[in-house]
Parts: sequence; structure tokens; C-alpha cells
Amino acid sequence: MPTWLGRAARYGSVTTRYPGDPPSLEEVPETSRAPRPTGPEPRPEAVAGCPVRAITNTTVDDGTCIRCARCLAWGFAFTGARDPATVTRAQLRVARPGPGAPSPTGPSPALDGFRRSLHLFLVDVGSCNACNLEVMALANPYYDASRLGIFFTNSPRHADALLVVGVPTDEMVEPLRRAYDALPAPKVVVAVGVCPISGGVFAGGRGLRGPLDTLVPVDVYVPGCPPTPLNVLDGLLTAIGRGRPRAEE
Ligand code: SF4
Ligand code: SF4
Repeated sequence: MPTWLGRAARYGSVTTRYPGDPPSLEEVPETSRAPRPTGPEPRPEAVAGCPVRAITNTTVDDGTCIRCARCLAWGFAFTGARDPATVTRAQLRVARPGPGAPSPTGPSPALDGFRRSLHLFLVDVGSCNACNLEVMALANPYYDASRLGIFFTNSPRHADALLVVGVPTDEMVEPLRRAYDALPAPKVVVAVGVCPISGGVFAGGRGLRGPLDTLVPVDVYVPGCPPTPLNVLDGLLTAIGRGRPRAEE
């Protein structure tokens, strides 16, 4: 014990100060943010060259973009929101974005019953495992989601929120629905990563279903491939009305 106290006095707290402070560049690196055109119009090469068709002449779809960086060669830069979670799918289709664009996020659902405590049940419906790793990092001492009243639980019957990662596969649709039904009401569903939001790079593949919001109601969308732990935390805080205000830079 004295050794622990000595180390604590010497090094202080290692835990992030988010959400009190905005995320740092190390916590949400540039490459995890959505791309935005640096000029007034997306260049035609970008519209044609995006491998997942996330770019149109008028919008960038954060819920489809896999952060592959190809469009950086065609006048784009990773300058999307550092706190990217939204409460509707439509808000992820950002129209003519650019520096100083107004926040595309609407009001949070602010589910009052969850404001102080939220228990999560994680369901992987077909991920590549990267989103799982980012979500599980929330339990480590750096992110320490428990300091905000957010905990993981091993049973959907003890959970308030279903955290879904991966692109829904045929085999996982029924387990997903059973987990959703087992959550006591009121309940929240958070889609983590572009796979459950749009299918991402797997969209249209054989044996796949979705997007997730065609299978169960989704309350919060956290884009990214994968989203960082703080992006996921932003989504969880958004679900309970404690999220940071979203701003494009
Ligand atoms: S980063 Fe890749 S996936 Fe995202 S919009 Fe650019 S080209 Fe498309
Ligand atoms: S969103 Fe990207 S990182 Fe997450 S499971 Fe899908 S492919 Fe993997």
C-alpha cells in the first residue's frame, strides 16, 4: 500500500480528463476523423474513387466512410468532428461540410433514468475484432468508463444499453433480437463502427443483413472504422444526455 501511495503521489492520475476536457490529438488522432473537402465542392475523382461510395457531389457519409485516406489525394482532409456520435442516421450524411460548418447533431435523447449509471451488454454480430478492442479499452485505467457510472455486464437482463459491433450476419440476427428483447425497458441501442451503421466495406456481401437499424431500433450512431474509445464514450454519453457538444472544425 505505501508503494502504491508513493507512486500515486509521484505520477498523479493517468486517467483521461475527457469529457471535462476535449479529446487530445493522441486520444482522437487525425486519421480517425471523417474526411471533409478542403474546397467548396468535392472533386469528381473523389466521388468516383471512394471504395465505399461515401462521397457524393453534395455530401460525405460519415456512417459509411472507412477512413481509408484515398480521398486525401483529391482535396480532402481529416477534419470531421472529434466527437462524432449522432442520434439519427441522417445526421451522419454531412452536406457540403467545411470549416465552421454548423453542428449536424440534434438534441440528445437525454434518457433521464440513465443519467448517473449505465450498464452495457456488448454484442458482436460479425466484426473484424477491431471495434471490440476499442470498446473493451473503456474498462482500462486510462479511459476508466466506471468513473462516469458506465459499466459492462455479462447478461442482457442486467443491462440498460446494447452496444453492437460488426456487420449483422444471418446467423447473428436471432441472437441479436433475443438480446434486445431481454434488456429491460427503457433501453438504448448504440451502433459502434460503420459495420452496423451501413455495412462499411462489407455492405452487400453474401450472408449479411442490416443495416442494424432495420433489425432493432438504434438510438445512437458512432461512426468510425474503428471508432476510438473516446468516440465510443462520446456515443454512450450522448445516449444519456451528457455528451460534449459536437462541432466541426
Ligand atoms: S477516407 Fe476513404 S472511405 Fe472515407 S470518404 Fe475518403 S475515400 Fe471514401
Ligand atoms: S467498423 Fe471497421 S473496425 Fe469495426 S468491425 Fe467493421 S471493419 Fe472492423
